[in-house]
Amino acid sequence: RLALHWHRRDLRILDNTALHHAAAGAEAVVPVYLLSNWRKEHLWTGEKRQAFLCRCLKSLGANLETIGGRLVIRCGRAATELEKLAKETGADAIFYNRDPDPFGGAAEKEVEAMALRLGIACYGHDDVALHTPEEILTQDGKPYRVYTPYSKNWLSQEKPQPLPKPRSLNTPPGISSLPLPDNAHWGWAESEADLIEAGERAAHQRLKTALASRLGNYGETRDFPAVPGTSRLSQDLRFGLLSPRTIYAKSAAALGETLSTPARSGIEKYIKELAWREFYLAILWHFPNVLEEEFNPDWRGLGWAEPDGKFEAWKQGLTGFPIVDAGMRELLATGFMHNRVRMISAMFLTKDLHIDWRLGEHHFMQHLLDGEIASNNGGWQWSAGTGADAAPYFRIQNPWTQAKRYDPDGTYMKRWLPELAKVPVDALFAPPKDGHPLAPGYPLPCVDHATERDRTLAIFKKHRQR
Ligand code: FAD
Repeated sequence: RLALHWHRRDLRILDNTALHHAAAGAEAVVPVYLLSNWRKEHLWTGEKRQAFLCRCLKSLGANLETIGGRLVIRCGRAATELEKLAKETGADAIFYNRDPDPFGGAAEKEVEAMALRLGIACYGHDDVALHTPEEILTQDGKPYRVYTPYSKNWLSQEKPQPLPKPRSLNTPPGISSLPLPDNAHWGWAESEADLIEAGERAAHQRLKTALASRLGNYGETRDFPAVPGTSRLSQDLRFGLLSPRTIYAKSAAALGETLSTPARSGIEKYIKELAWREFYLAILWHFPNVLEEEFNPDWRGLGWAEPDGKFEAWKQGLTGFPIVDAGMRELLATGFMHNRVRMISAMFLTKDLHIDWRLGEHHFMQHLLDGEIASNNGGWQWSAGTGADAAPYFRIQNPWTQAKRYDPDGTYMKRWLPELAKVPVDALFAPPKDGHPLAPGYPLPCVDHATERDRTLAIFKKHRQR
């Protein structure tokens, strides 16, 4: 018996549900990754994330070889390519882990139909989250719309255990494969950004570091972007370099071994963040319309401003608001932005510049290594005040006071805005009083926060009264 394992958001060999079952049930397994065949432009990805993907594939290929496997790379529509490969290899089964987003789901339907037509078995597994959207429902069997009751239910459920690595895959020789890709596959240049190390081994190392030295203080440090206080595992969850079962099991074990109350509460807080991820996966699953419109119908049709030069300034980190600009430059340079700064920056775009959250959503997707449509949409709609359990529209963060609160000695801002290195730290917490830029080449604030805040309140109130 020969099985195909279709790798998607699961670029790992450890604790991989579908790969585990494929190896257990077949004498030989052909692991395959299908490259997308668009070229040049994509609304929802960019150079950095594709470069990270390529590096993950390289590492996956090497890891598969350690268990007698060989990664086959093909390119094109899933149902067509898997049909060709199944016929070439005489496969009698296809295994894959389900993708919770609507695009992944549509491809799965085509693959299932193709397998049925060929008369071969097709096994979809749940792997991307600890609980599927259908497992965490209200007492009436409805999806949650608010995070706190969702998370209580989520936390109370027994969690699935990690699965062992397959002993051997035994991939037959002679199956043709494209070479490991680089960005040229999509018609792009190599990314010059400073990307975090890709691959399963690096992800496990990050988890180890997070558990050893970060998560015990997570409650105190997670909101301070200058401090390495968060797990930095989001891209690993995005590409499935680590499974959420492994992360949960190791965090729960650390909790069991930790006696100090603050450290325990840090780890508990971290686990609740994993529930945010699954809350947004569930929102997208139950309400796929959030990709097009506001989750909250009250705010559909709000009049957003036309994107102008200020939108470009926001993208480049040149708004004149140092905390916003530092975040946007961190994003451009590394494909990552700290969560606190994502919130400040997203709220600035929507509430200070009045620009449609969808434009910010696309920009983040094009630059974030962890760019994931459910979490990103959730984060953007939260910040815009339009989403499930969102910040109410009248709670508008002030970027100056946020900077003072969360980067009190300016370390983060100065790290990403070297032109401000010599500026006294207090100058980073208020618009320049003398009307002069903080440093040569650094712009004056592109708007007045108080004025734009009042404008936002007026726009939302007027919309509600319509
Ligand atoms: P930690 O603080 O260590 O959190 C642990 C894990 O919990 C994260 O790895 C992540 O998987 C999950 N998590 C934490 N906060 C959230 C949240 N608010 N929503 C969903 N999951 C969360 N996260 C993404 O993974 N992909 C995105 O595309 C994304 N876009 C965002 C856009 C905006 C506007 C905002 C405000 C947030 C976004 N987030 C996104 C959530 C969050 O910023 C990142 O998950 C976090 O910064 C990743 O760093 P970390 O792994 O060190 O997080």
